[in-house]
Amino acid sequence: MTTVYKDVDRIEADAVNKPEQRSLYAARVKVHPKRTHGTFRTLKWWVMAITLTIYYVTPWLRWDRGDFAPHQAVLVDLATRRFYFFFIEIWPQEFYFVGGLLVMAGVGLFLITSTVGRAWCGYTCPQTVWTDLFLVIERFVEGDRNARIKLDAAPWSFHKIALRSTKIAIWLLIAMATGGAWIFYFADAPTLAYNFFTLNAAPVAYSTVAVLTGTTFIFAGFMREQVCTYMCPWPRIQSAMLDEHSLVVTYNDWRGEPRGSQRDRRQHGETTYGDCIDCNLCVAVCPEGIDIRDGQQLECITCALCIDACNSVMEKIGKPRGLISYSTLSDYTAHEAGTRDPDQWPSFIRPRTFIYIFVWGMIGIGLLVLLVMRDRLDVNVLHDRNPLYVQLSDGNISNGYSVKILNKRTEPRTFRLSIEGLPGAVMYLAGSTKESNTGLNIDVGADRVRDIKVYVKMDPKRLKHRETDFRFVAVDINGGKSADRALTVAHFQRPPKQGNEE
Ligand code: SF4
Ligand code: SF4
Repeated sequence: MTTVYKDVDRIEADAVNKPEQRSLYAARVKVHPKRTHGTFRTLKWWVMAITLTIYYVTPWLRWDRGDFAPHQAVLVDLATRRFYFFFIEIWPQEFYFVGGLLVMAGVGLFLITSTVGRAWCGYTCPQTVWTDLFLVIERFVEGDRNARIKLDAAPWSFHKIALRSTKIAIWLLIAMATGGAWIFYFADAPTLAYNFFTLNAAPVAYSTVAVLTGTTFIFAGFMREQVCTYMCPWPRIQSAMLDEHSLVVTYNDWRGEPRGSQRDRRQHGETTYGDCIDCNLCVAVCPEGIDIRDGQQLECITCALCIDACNSVMEKIGKPRGLISYSTLSDYTAHEAGTRDPDQWPSFIRPRTFIYIFVWGMIGIGLLVLLVMRDRLDVNVLHDRNPLYVQLSDGNISNGYSVKILNKRTEPRTFRLSIEGLPGAVMYLAGSTKESNTGLNIDVGADRVRDIKVYVKMDPKRLKHRETDFRFVAVDINGGKSADRALTVAHFQRPPKQGNEE
């Protein structure tokens, strides 16, 4: 029986990024990825649209925080050293939240990589997303793979200069928008935008935009796959996380080999060959310039575009999809040995996966609990060292303290600052003669730290030890029963050789 194939054009495409050709001293052979369609390409379009929208739009989202805090939903406020994320505000003292989030991101990467391989590289890495975006422009202006190869080889002409300058101008605009968007995360976006375009912004804003414009333009426009192959440490790190149960893009050679073109098949018969018709479409669409049929390679970012390409070929020639597919090494080996149960699911879910999910979830829950329970008031006290105490003419001893009251709410508040554990002591503010044994009212602005100098005075004869611990306590006087309350331990020092010293 003769199989009738739909003709599939064979593409003259060679893997240009082969390991044996990889050298820091070799000139780069330009990759001209061909456009492809399919499930993974569509998924990539969606991921690209969502990630770019998040990046460009986020600084412009507003969030009402009352009269005393910025109204930007996501803001790293360097001036006041605060990080705002919607309803969450992180103070420098709470940097452990950022640390916790970074650890979660790390564990999340371990989880993703060990199960679905380099999904980060193939779909969400900024280098991948912006390279994809720049490729869209390149295709739009210069055409698909063949047209671009032809244009590259053509001598310089008005037509070529016009196409190249149009492409580069659009790339530059995108690169500038990318650098520009970044600085809006660090200051009120509308104000900074106005200052930026009226040339009134700080020099660091212009230099940041310049650096990010340059790196985006060069990395996404010209270096592309070289960033992944030579500059990024992630391909090396991830090899330690992959095992035989991790999903990777795999050419199923047990099914595809021996490969034979359609012409060969017509000559020698279909049964002589496997399913691969050697059309090279998988090579032509690869943005990394590799041939997945050579096996697993460090350069493969698992973008799965070769899966889409090959599936489209399989559909045309009436064979099952999946000659190139996401597969684990153990499934691949079982297939090769003919021992795989066709009803069996891929083996990428395993104990390790649950351990990562558990660790990730526990850190997340821990951070959430800390977030809900954290104090919105803090008191820090520093005892004066020089002098440690002052002997007053009336025989009392006075100790000085620098007290910082942190009001972490976005409204001004008044706190009652008092002392506990030092019976008979009185306190007063520097520059004031008004003494109190019950406490002092201290006003603190919204989202601010108030520094005050407080003196504590008492009769040394009432102290058994030379150094006595006591507590400074601050309470929000308008907070009612659930008022914010913070305390910190301090020491009171008296001179040695008092009559009752132990
Ligand atoms: S080999 Fe396939 S999955 Fe890997 S980078 Fe190339 S197109 Fe993407
Ligand atoms: S693996 Fe698929 S896309 Fe690649 S050459 Fe073979 S048939 Fe063509």
